[in-house]
Amino acid sequence: MSSLAGDLRRALKSDELFLVYQPKVSLTTSRWTGVEALLRWRHPERGLVPPNHFIPIAEASGMMRPLTERVIDMALDRWGEWNRRSCEIGIAINLSAKDIEPDFPDRFEQACLARAVSPGMITFELTETATHDVTDLLDIATRLRLKGPRLSIDDFGTGYSSVVQLHRLPFCELKIDRLFVSEVETSPEARTIVRAIVNLAHALDLTVVAEGPETPGEVEFLTDIGCDQAQGYYFSRPVEGAALLDVWRTRSLFPDAPAGEIGHAVSVSA
Ligand code: C2E
Ligand code: MG
Ligand code: MG
Repeated sequence: MSSLAGDLRRALKSDELFLVYQPKVSLTTSRWTGVEALLRWRHPERGLVPPNHFIPIAEASGMMRPLTERVIDMALDRWGEWNRRSCEIGIAINLSAKDIEPDFPDRFEQACLARAVSPGMITFELTETATHDVTDLLDIATRLRLKGPRLSIDDFGTGYSSVVQLHRLPFCELKIDRLFVSEVETSPEARTIVRAIVNLAHALDLTVVAEGPETPGEVEFLTDIGCDQAQGYYFSRPVEGAALLDVWRTRSLFPDAPAGEIGHAVSVSA
């Protein structure tokens, strides 16, 4: 076991792990449609370790189950706190392949019941790679969906078997990988791909979310082609849970907010 894996095992019992939340925004109304919970690890010596670094370690050392339990507990607790303060906003949680176990739907339902959170407020994001090679995937995903949460396919376009998974699994939402979004201003091919993915998603009745727009030009293109939502630094960086309510209140997420009102990165960064 690498020392980082040992440290992560210890971190599971400490407060070094925490969530930040990044808003998803409707490109038609400019209103928030939800937030994605993103895990952070503040290592006592190394500082912030990125999730792309420590999630694979957790997967390889059998720690995904407790890690995801921790993430779900933290997200549901935060949802309860926001809700008590009149902010009822859905939270998306990332899952890895190792999470998709036969008892996951029941465990998730129990966690929601224990905190009186409606499972419909939660979306689970699965990458194409995570959905690959999971035994009984269709059965587990179908039972999970019946408990109430929405299912979203994350990083679409960069994995494999993507279209097969779209067809087989009960997804509600598709997130276009940032790789394509970041090139729409410079590459005609990227524009063609993003437009085709939006059309494909709509033909399958899926909500489509563009990941990672950073510039006005990217947002304008996405809006023009009918992409439903976006989640990127252009609108907001991920924000710590305690600070999110302030952002939510001050950055106008009310029904009458004029389009484009949420246009600048917030000062709180991940
Ligand atoms: P993801 O689920 O695709 O999350 C989106 C990532 O894009 C986040 O990186 C977010 O901070 C980043 N991002 C959003 N907008 C922009 C933008 O405009 N520009 C740029 N450059 N980046 C943007 P983050 O938080 O580092 O997470 C990386 C990945 O780690 C996530 O990708 C997800 O696959 C994984 N991850 C994060 N938290 C969890 C978790 O709780 N459980 C699991 N299993 N995986 C997680
Ligand atoms: Mg995600
Ligand atoms: Mg993604």
